[in-house]
Amino acid sequence: MEYLPIFVDLKGRTCLVVGGGDIAARKSGLLLKAQAEVIVVAPKVSATTQALIDAGEVTWLNAEFAIDHLKDRLLVIAATDNEAVNRDVHRQAKAQNILVNVADCPELCDFILPSILDRSPIVVAVSSGGKSPILARQLRARLETLIPPSYGRLADLVGRYRQAVQDKLPKLSIRRRFWESVLQGKVADHVLAGRDDIGEQTLEAILNETQADDHQQGEVYLVGAGPGDPELLTFKALRLMQQADVVFYDRLVSKEVLGLVRKEAEQVYVGKQRDWHAVRQEEINQLLLKHAQQGKRVLRLKGGDPFIFGRGGEEIETLAAENIPFQVVPGITAASGCSSYAGIPLTHRDYSQSCTFVTGQLKEGELDLNWQALIQPRQTVVVYMGLAGLPVLSQQLQEHGLAADTPAALVQQGTTEHQKVWVSTIAKLPEIAEQEQPVAPTLVIIGDVVKLQKTLSWF
Ligand code: SAH
Repeated sequence: MEYLPIFVDLKGRTCLVVGGGDIAARKSGLLLKAQAEVIVVAPKVSATTQALIDAGEVTWLNAEFAIDHLKDRLLVIAATDNEAVNRDVHRQAKAQNILVNVADCPELCDFILPSILDRSPIVVAVSSGGKSPILARQLRARLETLIPPSYGRLADLVGRYRQAVQDKLPKLSIRRRFWESVLQGKVADHVLAGRDDIGEQTLEAILNETQADDHQQGEVYLVGAGPGDPELLTFKALRLMQQADVVFYDRLVSKEVLGLVRKEAEQVYVGKQRDWHAVRQEEINQLLLKHAQQGKRVLRLKGGDPFIFGRGGEEIETLAAENIPFQVVPGITAASGCSSYAGIPLTHRDYSQSCTFVTGQLKEGELDLNWQALIQPRQTVVVYMGLAGLPVLSQQLQEHGLAADTPAALVQQGTTEHQKVWVSTIAKLPEIAEQEQPVAPTLVIIGDVVKLQKTLSWF
């Protein structure tokens, strides 16, 4: 981060604007919005600045800038059309440790003025670090449509009840849930629809009903995080990720996806190693149970879809047995994500009428699969966890009658910036893996649809 966004209380503080033109007037206007005392120094002023002076909003010093003007100023903005003056203001302010901004000159700025979306008391500031003010303004315009003006009134309502709620609900976790139910529920609905009075009455009613020592029911969200690209998350996944108290995630969950979990949530890595699967799984089941019993909202975040080779079923069985509420949120499974991003349709009218997902995980060096089913024509076979056992897979498929030249592909880290795709045949794929050393996670796709990759690859 090049600049730290902070919101400064300027009420009654004196700020200096050097320059009397229209740009200077705009900067004065911003400072005035934040209720600062504004002093303008300039030998002559434009009509817009004159209007501010006439309205008594700013104080005008009819003079050239001089060092004395900086005395007792919190910050200074230089916006003259004279570069030498702007540089002088910058130098003198720096020497006195006063924060300085020179209009349209990022290298002479201690602070920059962001694009502002004002829904007071909600204020959103967007900055491009001086690189592209136009982009920042466009983003602000997009936010404008997302955050209607009524959000300001909602924030005001919350502000009025803040103390009362704090007094009645001293326990932070209960208070947080109270506010979440207010802001995501009926109260917010009423205020955003312009029914402020009903919103306020509803808030009071909920507050009356809420007990300071309410026993909180924990819950587990078993959520599919998709194959890696965070934009492939579902809305529901994102919403639950934003309200979790603790998250248990594994190796397949990408850093970018994890970055979208509520910042205050405790994060616990429970990634599994191939060889000690069974032991750890029982431990994870118990961890989820224990935290939910403590009343927490537990997020179990799993790569892809939790019910496809994700052992999601086992994790919630333990919860069901103990009557812990849970929700399961599907995610985009690796087969879907990798095939889309690699340009290999899983089915196709000319090549494939069905698609089978199998696990290629070795058990004592062997693969126990229904080979007769897997060699049937006009189908696509997707092999999860198939990298280590690829030579066995390739050999067994051929021994059971699959043509050696059946197209097959490896998709490494699909949907992410590290995605790599290798296209070959089932006979040659192990050799390719040996040479290229793809890293986990890698998916194997077998079938005539792989031929389409050449023309359909886009990512
Ligand atoms: N529940 C997950 C699968 C877990 S099994 C899902 O629905 O996707 C783990 C296997 O999934 C890996 O060995 C690999 O074969 C595959 N996989 C998961 N994410 C992948 C990705 N981004 N790219 C390629 N393969 C992936």
